[in-house]
Amino acid sequence: MAAILGGGLGGLSTGYYLLKNNLNNPNKLKIFLLEATNQCGGWIKTIRTKDYLFEQGPRTIRPKGITGLNTLNMIQDLGLSEHVSPIRPDHPAAKNRMIYVNNELHLLPSSLKGVFQKNGPFSKPLIYAVFNDLKQPHLELKDDSIYNFVERRFGREIADYAISPMICGICAGDAKEISVKFLMKTLFEYEQNHGGVMKGLMKSFFKTKVPDDLELTDLANTAKEEKWSVYTIKGGLETFPTTLKTYLEESNVDLHLNTTVEEIEFIDASLVKLKQTDGKIVTANHVYSTIPAHILSKLVKSQHPDLSNCLNEIPFVTVGIVNLYFSTTKPLITPAFGFLIPPIENSPILGVVFDSCCIPDQNGTVLTVMLGGRWFKEKFGQNVTEDRLLNIALGEIKTILKIEDSPAAYNVNILKKCIPQYVIGHYERVEKIRQYIQEKNLPISLVGSSYDGVGVNDVIFSAKMQVEEDCTNS
Ligand SMILES: Cc1cc2nc3c(=O)[nH]c(=O)nc-3n(C[C@H](O)[C@H](O)[C@H](O)COP(=O)(O)OP(=O)(O)OC[C@H]3O[C@@H](n4cnc5c(N)ncnc54)[C@H](O)[C@@H]3O)c2cc1C
Repeated sequence: MAAILGGGLGGLSTGYYLLKNNLNNPNKLKIFLLEATNQCGGWIKTIRTKDYLFEQGPRTIRPKGITGLNTLNMIQDLGLSEHVSPIRPDHPAAKNRMIYVNNELHLLPSSLKGVFQKNGPFSKPLIYAVFNDLKQPHLELKDDSIYNFVERRFGREIADYAISPMICGICAGDAKEISVKFLMKTLFEYEQNHGGVMKGLMKSFFKTKVPDDLELTDLANTAKEEKWSVYTIKGGLETFPTTLKTYLEESNVDLHLNTTVEEIEFIDASLVKLKQTDGKIVTANHVYSTIPAHILSKLVKSQHPDLSNCLNEIPFVTVGIVNLYFSTTKPLITPAFGFLIPPIENSPILGVVFDSCCIPDQNGTVLTVMLGGRWFKEKFGQNVTEDRLLNIALGEIKTILKIEDSPAAYNVNILKKCIPQYVIGHYERVEKIRQYIQEKNLPISLVGSSYDGVGVNDVIFSAKMQVEEDCTNS
């Protein structure tokens, strides 16, 4: 009997891989999933009307790398291929990504040619960053912030205007705190092992590439051949968890909604008790926790305070999301993915996504403004109202995009502690947590965005890895 804690994408994917790995098991594995709210999907939530679509959480998925291709395999297997809406390299949303610096929007270079040209706000063509890397002396480190690393290797402007806004866009975090291993593990290893990024890159060129053994579906192959930049799901990303949920239900996984677990008691290496807030206790041989680390920390506290402390050290940030719909026949924006604002600009907003350019079938202009993240409390305090966030968002788009119109519809959400921050030392901390679990023989596996990557692909891949590891060990 396997219990899955949490019905976000991590929990649903765990169910999917448990089913796939037990297809030929004559003693059918009994699986149940416990979800605190009245629906599955976690942060993935879509509001759909005939005119517009508001994504309140994630909206685009990257198709690249083993984790990206793995998600596409799952999407095809679930029969969702027809719903995939790719953004190909020639699409404006793939080519036009901007940053807002010194009261101006600047287009970031999207081609090799652009790297050799001078583009504001950078004072020199980006190619100069390579010379900077070649000049720097060797520095031995176990980990570093991504900001420090990029400043050291490529210069301050790249750290401030390229990497810092990118970190805001990916995890709403501060590049000065986020581990370099979060996005640039390989480049950091090049620096540490070869004395520089370019030197490491040259040496790796002559190494034979190890082929990955992932078999690709037609959808994954198409994405690879056509070099998709990102993709969305027609009708909204929520279709993805909804389809996964139906797949689990049809495969006899017991789904319990409105069921909050408040304590986990480990009895022995193959027995665990899950106490619910309504007083009910359920038992399982193994539990897959896919809930955020800070919540799991409370659930294991009485029996394992050290584990609880370690889980609680993973920080999370709060993000304000303001979705706006303008009912206009002429678009109010130039076609692009959107723009991000570097933290040194000290803006109240992190950036704006131009949804009507990225997501198909919208009648009018749809924008999503993201606010706060790592700076939420500092900028808005503890008790900010949704109205205040809406006014700030409208003020900023008026100043930056010159949009004077009032939105015909809007939606504001404050997503409390929604994105984990992989700060310096994160990977060592996760290793320590898993080592503790192994040494104490606790029947629990950790899945979800708190541990092995914060994006949709990472969460799905971490479910696959944890399930496969447990199936191999049992
Ligand atoms: C605003 C925002 C934008 C994002 N944009 C992107 C994007 O564009 N692309 C991308 O790849 N990724 C994006 N992400 C990241 C992506 O959404 C996450 O990686 C993913 O949704 C995390 O899934 P999860 O299952 O790990 O966690 P969650 O979604 O947090 O799911 C956990 C579930 O556990 C339940 N739960 C919690 N406590 C308990 C309990 N005690 N008992 C029972 N159930 C419990 C919760 O109700 C929830 O349903 C974004 C995230 C946010 C917040």
